[in-house]
Amino acid sequence: MKKNITVAYGDGIGPEIMKATLKIIKAAGAQLDIDEIKIGEDVFKAGHSSGIPPEAWDVIHKNKVLLKAPITTPQGGGYKSLNVTLRKSLGLYASVRPCISFSPYVKAVHPDVDITIVRENEEDLYAGIEHQQTPDVHQCLKLITKGGSEKIIRYAFEYAKSCGRRKVTCMTKDNIMKITDGLFHSVFEEVAKEYPDIESEHYIIDIGAARIASRPTDFDVIVAPNLYGDIISDIAAEITGSVGLGGSENIGDEFSMFEAVHGSAPDIAGQGIANPSGLLLGACRMLLHLGQTEVAEKVENAWRCTLEEGIHTGDIYKKESSKKLVNTAEFTEAVLERLGKKPSHLRPVNYDGFDPHIEVKINPSFPKDKIYVGVDVFIQATKEEFHDMTKKLEEASGDDFRFKMVTNRGVKAYPGELPRTYITDHQRCRFVSKSGGEVKPRQILDLQGRILDKGLDIIKTENLCEFDGKRAYSLGQGE
Ligand code: NAD
Repeated sequence: MKKNITVAYGDGIGPEIMKATLKIIKAAGAQLDIDEIKIGEDVFKAGHSSGIPPEAWDVIHKNKVLLKAPITTPQGGGYKSLNVTLRKSLGLYASVRPCISFSPYVKAVHPDVDITIVRENEEDLYAGIEHQQTPDVHQCLKLITKGGSEKIIRYAFEYAKSCGRRKVTCMTKDNIMKITDGLFHSVFEEVAKEYPDIESEHYIIDIGAARIASRPTDFDVIVAPNLYGDIISDIAAEITGSVGLGGSENIGDEFSMFEAVHGSAPDIAGQGIANPSGLLLGACRMLLHLGQTEVAEKVENAWRCTLEEGIHTGDIYKKESSKKLVNTAEFTEAVLERLGKKPSHLRPVNYDGFDPHIEVKINPSFPKDKIYVGVDVFIQATKEEFHDMTKKLEEASGDDFRFKMVTNRGVKAYPGELPRTYITDHQRCRFVSKSGGEVKPRQILDLQGRILDKGLDIIKTENLCEFDGKRAYSLGQGE
């Protein structure tokens, strides 16, 4: 039965690799009814700041499944990344990127890579909440939720189970970001207990990324918050030989989107030399989701035959491992000629009995009691204004609050000496409850009123909370 899908040809090399991909999957027998949409650079430039016109949303919502070529986000001008908009608007919480090396047929930095990166797709610094707060200081909010963490981590374990993988590795920076990344890590530890047959481990992201580059065979499935996942999935794709080989799926409860790992490669656009493999593999994942398993298998096996016979596009062509340098059209023809064949050296693909549908149910438990115990008031004041500011804040603290400290870029600047480092115009001024117990929101507002009356410039505030009696804010360095 034919399935409805939406196709976006994208920018740069997008149209070239989409044409190749559709030609191959159709010839292999894909049963698709295609609605085309225009999104990306031209739409941005026509004045849609999201890069997507309203009528395209209607088509995407109707068909549920989107095959998308890479998009160029124009630099500057306040354009929002269309990819991030699509992922977030469609609830595509899981980005899944298998990275496999095809050595010795494709020269790779590492011959035996077989890693799948499961990246959280909706939260973290990609929430896109940024502000310039003072002439000097710019801020991006990092949001990590318990529910979002549980969902992606469960997805990673379920994915590992359904693909017969042995291990799930979590990567965070929770030695530094103890509350946000700490939450992701602790949810991982909890969920891992429910999968005793799958090994689990945690790496700090910096050494984790280094180890992917140096010892990729240590890893199997890796789950990470959005930004780290973005970075390590490019590292993992690159060490297999080329980012041009990576396909990816973006999965949500209702919608799904399939694409290549790489971008629109404007440096080679229009030359007809791009490698269509990443998008082709993304399309094969789409066919699996649509239940057209045999077609996906046929395409991937023909593609593997082409690789092992040394028929390579420029990005993977190497004298010692390749036989023939081809352009996009020639590569496409080579795959078409091999439809129905199985590779003789590389492992043939077999999706018998494989069900790509993973349903994740989450049931996060939240703390019940929340009280306020203080407030961080962020004030714009320069180094020269600093001492006058602290004097005024002592006076403004009143009967309810103790003015506890000021930090500058996280380092304690008051009480005591100013740090010998660069002092910026962004002072985090911490007030805690004088009684040591709860303070009410009205008391916090009154404090701000007294601070404003002193002529100080409040940029923003963050309430200091305790949830179920536990401190829910970080201490300043040196506090
Ligand atoms: P890129 O992935 O487009 O290119 C990086 C390098 O890899 C370039 O040298 C390019 O020629 C090469 N390359 C990429 N894909 C290739 C292929 N299929 N065949 C052969 N060589 C290939 O990354 P970039 O240059 O940082 O980004 C270019 C544009 O793409 C930017 O506007 C960026 O925002 C966008 N982008 C889009 C997506 C997406 O739509 N999912 C993802 C990443 C970047």
